[in-house]
Amino acid sequence: MRKNLITSIALLFLTLAAVFFGRNLAQSLVVTEKLYPVEEVKIARPASEIFKTMLAANPFIPVRNLPAVPKVSLLSSDVLAAEKLTQRAINLKVIAEGNETTATQHCEALVEKTLTALPTNLTSKIKDLTLYLTERKSRGMSNSHLIELRCADMSDEELVSVLIHEIGHTVDLGYLHGSGNIVSDFTDGSLLIPTDDVSVEFYQLSWKNSEKQRFIASRTDFVSGYAMSDPFEDFAESFNFYLLHGSDFRLLAKESETLQAKYDFLKENVFARKEFSSLVTGESGKRVWDTTLLPIALQAFLQES
Ligand SMILES: [Zn+2]
Repeated sequence: MRKNLITSIALLFLTLAAVFFGRNLAQSLVVTEKLYPVEEVKIARPASEIFKTMLAANPFIPVRNLPAVPKVSLLSSDVLAAEKLTQRAINLKVIAEGNETTATQHCEALVEKTLTALPTNLTSKIKDLTLYLTERKSRGMSNSHLIELRCADMSDEELVSVLIHEIGHTVDLGYLHGSGNIVSDFTDGSLLIPTDDVSVEFYQLSWKNSEKQRFIASRTDFVSGYAMSDPFEDFAESFNFYLLHGSDFRLLAKESETLQAKYDFLKENVFARKEFSSLVTGESGKRVWDTTLLPIALQAFLQES
């Protein structure tokens, strides 16, 4: 009996340890990316002492404007086509450890090509874009008008995917926004989302509020594991998946009415009914944790879309 008790206690400890370490493992898989209000980005961002010293000694490489380069037309609508002709002026900061290098220039060129490949009505919401040439930053961060992107230690494919994921956040928060006084159940940090924000319709498909999924939500209602983090990551992951992995999105949506509704929402409200094929053949429609790590045919995206 006592032996059984000891065995039970030992088993209980083992279970608790497994749960604890399992959770830690799960947490370590989470991409270190969150949305921050601008103030927090500027003041509370963790930076090592070395990085702070480097910034103090070598302030931002001068702010430049990206030239307006509306070469590619994604959307057929006349209104949107006209919008593409408007100037896109983005304050671009490049923060490098040391002097600007070919790596910086490569990253900058890639970012500019990506912005050019997307409809201006979406990218025009980006006012500030900061590129970091250091591994000490998370891969990407954004809010309604600002994007930060780490250029170091990422393949070109990943960099472009992360940028598009971040543009998804900017579209969600800066492009689809409401102006009413009634606050919805959704808040992004200190940002209150009004009920007339179009995105609320998207959030409500799977979410009760900013933290809790709806009771009926299931794994198949999301494009990735990371999309299940909160309504805003759900939007950004779905945005990225729609644009770069369209065929797979449609395939997965066959298994879930909710996912189909998310696809239809993006089609109607964001992409002006334009649909896309996956850029890699042979994808199986398998769900992944993070859509920005999926392979893409980068050249095809940058040249054809
Ligand atoms: Zn995100």
